[in-house]
Order: sequence, then C-alpha cells, then structure tokens
Amino acid sequence: MTCELISVGTELLLGDIVNTNAQYLSKKLAALGIDVLFQHTVGDNPQRLKATLDLAFSQCEMIILTGGLGPTPDDLTKEVCAEYFGLELVEDKKSLEKIEEYYKTKNLPMPPSNKKQAMMPEGCLILENSCGTAPGCVMEKNGKAMIILPGPPREMKPMFELAEKKYLSKFTHGVIKSHNVRTFAIGESAMAEKVSDLLFLKNPTVAPYAKNGEALLRVTAKAENEEEAEKLLSPVIEEIEKRLGDYIYGIDVDSLAEATVSLLKEKNLTVATAESCTAGLVSKRITDVSGSSAVFGCTVVSYSNEIKEKVLGVKKSDLEKYGAVSETVALQMARGALEISGADIAASVTGLAGPDSDETGKEVGLVYIAVTNGKKEVCKKLLTGHKDRKNCRPYNRNAAALNVLNEIRLFAKENY
Ligand code: ATP
Ligand code: MG
Repeated sequence: MTCELISVGTELLLGDIVNTNAQYLSKKLAALGIDVLFQHTVGDNPQRLKATLDLAFSQCEMIILTGGLGPTPDDLTKEVCAEYFGLELVEDKKSLEKIEEYYKTKNLPMPPSNKKQAMMPEGCLILENSCGTAPGCVMEKNGKAMIILPGPPREMKPMFELAEKKYLSKFTHGVIKSHNVRTFAIGESAMAEKVSDLLFLKNPTVAPYAKNGEALLRVTAKAENEEEAEKLLSPVIEEIEKRLGDYIYGIDVDSLAEATVSLLKEKNLTVATAESCTAGLVSKRITDVSGSSAVFGCTVVSYSNEIKEKVLGVKKSDLEKYGAVSETVALQMARGALEISGADIAASVTGLAGPDSDETGKEVGLVYIAVTNGKKEVCKKLLTGHKDRKNCRPYNRNAAALNVLNEIRLFAKENY
C-alpha cells in the first residue's frame, strides 16, 4: 500500500502554524509499514486541492488529508474530495445527533452552520470525532482511497487511531521500528566515520543526523512484528554503543538534559550550578525536565565579578590575575556552589559569549567548565570557534550550557 499525505490549510502555507499533523501521520504510518511517498501542503483552495489529488493519485493508492472539516465556508476538504470521487453528500443522522449532543453537553445552542459537518459522502466509512464536532471518513473508489481527518491535532490523533483500527489494519504488513542513538561532543562526520561500515547495512539501516550541536544515529528495521524488528536492531545498537562509548548520552531520550537528570536520579545525586556566561541557561535546561526537583538544588547566576567574590568566594586576587574566564575561577565558582548548596555535585561555567571579549582580550567562544564533589574536581576548556558578531552569543551560550550538562553527566557516570 502506497500513501501520500495532503495537509490542507492556508495557515500552513503562510507559516503561521507548523505542520505537526504530517509528522505525526508519517511516523504512525511508518510504524504500520505503510509507505508514505510524498507529503503535500495546499491552501484552502478547491482548484489547487483538486490538482493535488490528481497528482497524488497518479502515483499512490491512498491519500490521507487533514484540515478543512470545520463548519465555515473556507472548510471545503470533504466537499472537494466527495466530488472528486463523484459521491453525493447526504445527511448522516447519527453524526448530526452527535454534533447536537456535543453542544448540549456544553450548554450552547448549535450554530446552524455546524449542520454541514453531518453531511457525509454516500457510502463512506464514518470516523467519529471523540474530541470535537467534525466527523472524518474513509471513501473508496476503483481501488483508490481517501481518508479525511480534521485539522486540530487533538481531534486528528484519536481519529487516526480509529481509522487504524477500523480500516488501515487490513493493509499493514509488518512494522518499521527505529531507535535514535544520541551523542554529544563528537561531530556528525567523526561519529559517522566510527560507524562507516554500518551505514551500508540494508536492514536495519543506520543513518547519521546533526541537530542543534549534537549528532544522532537513527537505526531503523523493517520486520513482521515489533519483536522481530527489535531482534534486528539490538545487535547493531550494541555495536554502535561499543564504538561510540561515552559519546552516547542516551537512546530514544528527548534531550541531553533529560539524560543527565535521569542519570542523577538513578545514582541518587543532587547537583547545583554556578553560571556566569550562561546566566541560568543550564538551570533552565535542567528544570525543563519534569521531576528535576529531585536532583536540582539551585543555581547562582554570578554574572558580575562582585557576585563571584561575595556569593561564591572567588578570590579577588585570582580574578585580577587570571581573569573571570579562567580555570582557576571556574574551579572556585564550583567549590562555592557546592558549599552554599550542600549538593553532592556542583558545576560552574564561565566564558566569553561575545561578540566582544573582556579586558583580558581572550578569544570569544572560550569557556571553562568545572565540576566538583569536594573530593574530585575537573575542569574542561572549551573553544567553540564561533566568533561571528551577529550569531556568536546565542550559539556560544547554548554550546556552553550543553557542555555543562554533559560534564555533569560524565562526572556522575565516572565517579559514582
Ligand atoms: P476547525 O473546525 O477548527 O476549522 P478544520 O478541520 O477545518 O478544523 P483547519 O481549519 O484546517 O481544520 O485547522 C484548524 C486548526 O487546526 C488550525 O488553526 C491549526 O491550529 C490546526 N491545524 C490544522 N492543520 C494542522 C497541521 N497540519 N498541523 C498542525 N496543526 C494543524
Ligand atoms: Mg477550519
């Protein structure tokens, strides 16, 4: 079964909303083993929608459309699709009752325009809307099929699951299963070199990607069922783990922060931070993770030298001698954060985010990150190499924050 997606909505073309429906559907269909060949996006325009249907049906058997099922005159997807298959729209009593019921439970009168939503293509398979008013449907003609779903994701997702049960299940042959191996502190090309032979595998396939200063490998297997897919995936993932070692921070995790927080939780450790150039970005990333209160105590945003001295106990003479962006100061900041927080581990970061350097004239993009637990301490020097006046600041701050998270992760892994 080959499939194409058509996302209907002028808002999508204007860039007002992100097409998360297409992403969701592609992922779901891949897991069902249904090949998605193309994704199209078209505005609320009947002629162009019809032209897109022509194009898609010239190369596939099934089209899934989202959007344009609302009650307003610009919502025309169902009308255009029914006409395309030469089907009349007829009132579906059950759907009308459901829409009336929907308004009754909300204690609102049903606007007359909503009646349009109960007009369904004759002979279609109706997909009830459990979260809104517009039903969707499946229409078939001459071996071709269209599945029409509403635009709002909260309505579309449960309706797709219904379509999966009621209709799509008969076409699924096997599954496609992927795992994402996420790495940090190794570039995409260096990572790819370490697994270069695996990139030629056919099943599972191994594909490298770069994303926000990180690199990941997506390992994807096609098999009869999930269990068989996992059997194909696990030896390849084990091999990747052997070759990439500590560069891997997690498999199928959302972020480096999430991996760091869950490692700290697993080891029953708490952390505090002292942030200069990132001014709280590290603590923001940590506390973005739900449940982080179990591992995170505080951050000291010690942006000025005065606060580095007063709050963290950094020596004035060292600030003058080595500058705020130095190994000595980073270590003293971490020690200070450890002392005032009482956490198991403290990490600090001080650096030159740019575009201008400080009075020492050190290189923009120079960052020192220290981690201590009172017994052992480490300090990492980082040079991001990013000096472009316009973009260096957010880039360097993000790079610094991610490296702090990674240093906390490595410290916890090695010492506990
Ligand atoms: P409504 O009854 O709300 O009019 P609809 O089925 O007619 O629903 P649209 O009018 O096309 O759908 O879109 C309604 C809203 O649904 C959009 O404003 C947007 O928030 C969301 N939406 C639509 N299409 C997508 C999409 N492809 N990805 C993510 N969100 C979408
Ligand atoms: Mg609409």
